[in-house]
Amino acid sequence: MTSASAQDTYTAARAKMAEEISAMARDTAVETGRAAFSPRVMNAMTKVARHRFVAEGEERSAYLNRPLGIGSGQTISQPYIVALMSDLLELKPGDKVLEIGTGSGYQAAVLAELAATVYTIEIIEPLGRLAAQRLLAAGYHNVVTRIGDGYQGWAQHAPFDAIMVTAAASGVPPALIEQLRPGGKLVIPVGSQGSHQELRLISKSADGTTHTRRVLGVRFVPLTGGPVPKQ
Ligand code: SAM
Repeated sequence: MTSASAQDTYTAARAKMAEEISAMARDTAVETGRAAFSPRVMNAMTKVARHRFVAEGEERSAYLNRPLGIGSGQTISQPYIVALMSDLLELKPGDKVLEIGTGSGYQAAVLAELAATVYTIEIIEPLGRLAAQRLLAAGYHNVVTRIGDGYQGWAQHAPFDAIMVTAAASGVPPALIEQLRPGGKLVIPVGSQGSHQELRLISKSADGTTHTRRVLGVRFVPLTGGPVPKQ
């Protein structure tokens, strides 16, 4: 296959993936409260080259609407979940976003299409390094990457207009609430592995109080790191 026809194949596969995401959005509307995702989010989903972020040899599966292994026991999330979580944040072009769990870098690329700057933290060094290289190679210069534990957020760049956690936490890390700008939104899967996990949308109002909505049952790899236990 020539490079031009490979690109055509990927473009067609992305369009089909977007149709499947839209169909799934309709099917889950009762739980999520949204029967369709915004045109901005759907444009990002049809634009970002997911095949550049999957594991080598998995390019042909890149546009299936399912998670895929990326090494180190981690996954690149299902495209429908990437679209849903992005849509829930209702990002504006000037926004500053924090993502915890860079993984492959794909979700960060989608966020980079929707916001001005994306800060993203990955705890597993080889994954974080590879994602940083892939994001640059794909032309995403508005993504700032860091290797480390995202449980404490990234205070130096706070407050954030929106925060997305892409690994399941046993509870909502308090630092992330603190680093969210009043009026901002945080989306996070909560629950332990092997048992029920729910995607939560937390909105912070102007007076600093928060409101939580339970959106959907989900399955994510666990958020590791976290507070150091007291002796
Ligand atoms: N957003 C990713 C993508 O687009 O490929 C998918 C992320 S994967 C489902 C979850 C990621 O969170 C893993 O790469 C894992 O190593 C990372 N992770 C888990 N705990 C973390 C923590 N405390 N801080 C930063 N990253 C963490």
